[in-house]
Amino acid sequence: MAAQIIDGKAIAAKVRSRIAGQVEQLKAKGITPGLAVVLVGDDPASRVYVGMKKKMCLELGMHSSDHELPADTSQAKLLELIDQLNADERIHGILVQLPLPAHIDTDQVLEAISPMKDADGFHPYNVGRLAIGKPTFQPCTPYGVMVMLEEIGYDLQGKEVVVVGRSNIVGKPVALMCLARHATVTICHSRTRDLAEVVRRADVVIAAVGKAEMVKGDWIKPGAVVIDVGINRVGEKKLVGDVEYAAAAERASAITPVPGGVGPMTIAMLLQNTLESAQRTGNEASR
Ligand code: NDP
Repeated sequence: MAAQIIDGKAIAAKVRSRIAGQVEQLKAKGITPGLAVVLVGDDPASRVYVGMKKKMCLELGMHSSDHELPADTSQAKLLELIDQLNADERIHGILVQLPLPAHIDTDQVLEAISPMKDADGFHPYNVGRLAIGKPTFQPCTPYGVMVMLEEIGYDLQGKEVVVVGRSNIVGKPVALMCLARHATVTICHSRTRDLAEVVRRADVVIAAVGKAEMVKGDWIKPGAVVIDVGINRVGEKKLVGDVEYAAAAERASAITPVPGGVGPMTIAMLLQNTLESAQRTGNEASR
């Protein structure tokens, strides 16, 4: 049977439309959710992402505040801006676009963002809360993966999940989120012995490696769900994921395409995190 294609574009549009409704409700209470995006330098890909974030923010009726700084901005100047944004009541989420130029200490910058405005969920405080299963800002891409599984009605409880990749932005947090939903989780990485054998036992495979089609179709257990986070450029224009898509789709029960799968979810969940932060502000104000 052909696999269900999990349409990230459609799911992200649904998430955004839900957000727009909730933004309206908050505005009626006098709160406009606000996202600040900080870009240092002129990396073209980062500029495109930042532009998309701003456009969607405005489309959903949110307040957007953009800060484009030259590549030679000092650490002190950047920290000063973050302090200002931390104190700005119109801002509920702060995102510093990565990567930062080499002279900037990225960890220090991410830790300077108030944990209460950490829309990316990268602050160690929020990472710790995620690890101990407390409510927190959830990192956007893994959060998007969870929403996709919910949208197809997939219950992770008791399922065998294999995550390929252990980065702090995707692999580790997505594994923690699956664990919180009572899955049995295995995290693989570059030193894993016999990756194929581990993937073969998965009910759900989540690939976040960054190597074109390295997870082979015949590793997929018949009926498994395949979530491909990878985005790899092949040649001039073609994008492929970390999973050998056509062969995997013949065995999987559901699979995300690349492009059009997990990718569109990330910005939607950034806006969701900003909304949730503004809702918490509203709840505190009404206490
Ligand atoms: P990282 O490079 O930070 O991490 C890659 C992980 O893959 C590492 O843990 C590494 O292991 C592991 N790995 C590398 N080679 C192998 C191998 N041969 N076998 C098993 N594991 C291996 O990548 P990210 O997590 O940042 O990103 C992963 C992919 O997801 C990229 O393609 C990226 O573009 C994409 N991405 C997509 C997003 C979206 O919005 N859809 C958002 C974020 C990322 P080790 O730790 O041992 O080195």
